[in-house]
Amino acid sequence: MSLLAAALLAAAAAAPPPASKADVRKKQAAVASIDAHRGDLVSMADAIWGFAETALGETRSAALLADYAERQGFRVERGKAGMPTAFVASYGQGRPVVAVLGEYDALPGLSQKAVPERAVLQPGAPGHGCGHNLFGAASLGAAVAVKELIEAGKLSGTVRFYGTPAEEAIGGKVYMARDGLFRDVDVALAWHPADRTYADMTSGQALVDLVVTFEGRTAHAAFDPWNGRSAVDALELFTHGVNMMREHVKPTVRMHYVILEGGDVPNVVPDHAKVWIWARDFERKGVDEVLAWLRQVAEGAALMAGVKQTLAVQAGDYEILVNEAGARLLDANLRWLGPIAYAPEEQAFAKALQTAAGVEPRGMESEIGPLLGQEKEGGSTDVGDVSWNVPTLHVSVATAPRGVPWHAWPVVAAGGP
Ligand SMILES: [Zn+2]
Repeated sequence: MSLLAAALLAAAAAAPPPASKADVRKKQAAVASIDAHRGDLVSMADAIWGFAETALGETRSAALLADYAERQGFRVERGKAGMPTAFVASYGQGRPVVAVLGEYDALPGLSQKAVPERAVLQPGAPGHGCGHNLFGAASLGAAVAVKELIEAGKLSGTVRFYGTPAEEAIGGKVYMARDGLFRDVDVALAWHPADRTYADMTSGQALVDLVVTFEGRTAHAAFDPWNGRSAVDALELFTHGVNMMREHVKPTVRMHYVILEGGDVPNVVPDHAKVWIWARDFERKGVDEVLAWLRQVAEGAALMAGVKQTLAVQAGDYEILVNEAGARLLDANLRWLGPIAYAPEEQAFAKALQTAAGVEPRGMESEIGPLLGQEKEGGSTDVGDVSWNVPTLHVSVATAPRGVPWHAWPVVAAGGP
């Protein structure tokens, strides 16, 4: 399934439509390269599915892809942007510089066997609930196909595979962008596993990820509470303030929090409390406004409770800056490749998964979806930060049956060996 993504990204890099006969031959060569490496690409995707390593711990997954790139003749630089599991593999020289992005981190707690019913593989272990095992391997396949075209003298320039860790947590691409790793790139190509196949013009949401900590003064909660100042009081005032904000922020804003620390026992005035909160909007400007307000709410809460507060921004990303010309190029190449043909046993598996997930058992969607106008959807990705540095082309490819829940066991089951 993800081989289509590899073929598509490689074909798009090979030549824009309308294509001359020579261009078509380049596209065909790119597709032939994907076919030739099929066994390697599938076995890498399966191995990374089995490793199921979470953000910044993707040691074996990153090494597998980086070693493969090296064996294919790429120059590999590991440990980029201060992250041991980030790497860049390059081939060729000069312009244009074409970047292909790959991810390989799993999600905690989603361990699942590759069967169409809920069956935990290893209790408490992570699982590939976002299909990043496919994302990494297929994107590298695309980069290898472009490399072979350069090697054969059919294309000139440089192809780079970016091994980008921790998409599900801190967003490794944010730090790679900050370190200027996309500065000389002409175009970035990316794809993402989905339940449909289409050239993507969705921009997603900008995000800020922050932690607010309150430090008070402890005391016996019954004997001398007047000597204490409760950090949990401040935390409650803060979250209350956030919930009051909801009425007055734009409808596009999303705020969600979890309480990380909220005291130990009721008979001690808690001197420490911590809340983790994300705020999103469809544009970075909106997020910045909400962040400024959240800072004031944290200060106000601390003032009311008589405690100290610190607000630490941990991570964040920009919304995707959609490149319409690029989306049209990907759409034309998708149609040139044609719909995905699924084997009867793949459709039977997909239908069983849909039944188990409680959605209509229609099987895999093989048709290529229409090219829609620019869309906004909930959710954030660090691809956004890349798109503000370099034109970024994005496609979604069906790797799981339509309608099954994402970041959940059915996606793990569909992406496994
Ligand atoms: Zn993802």
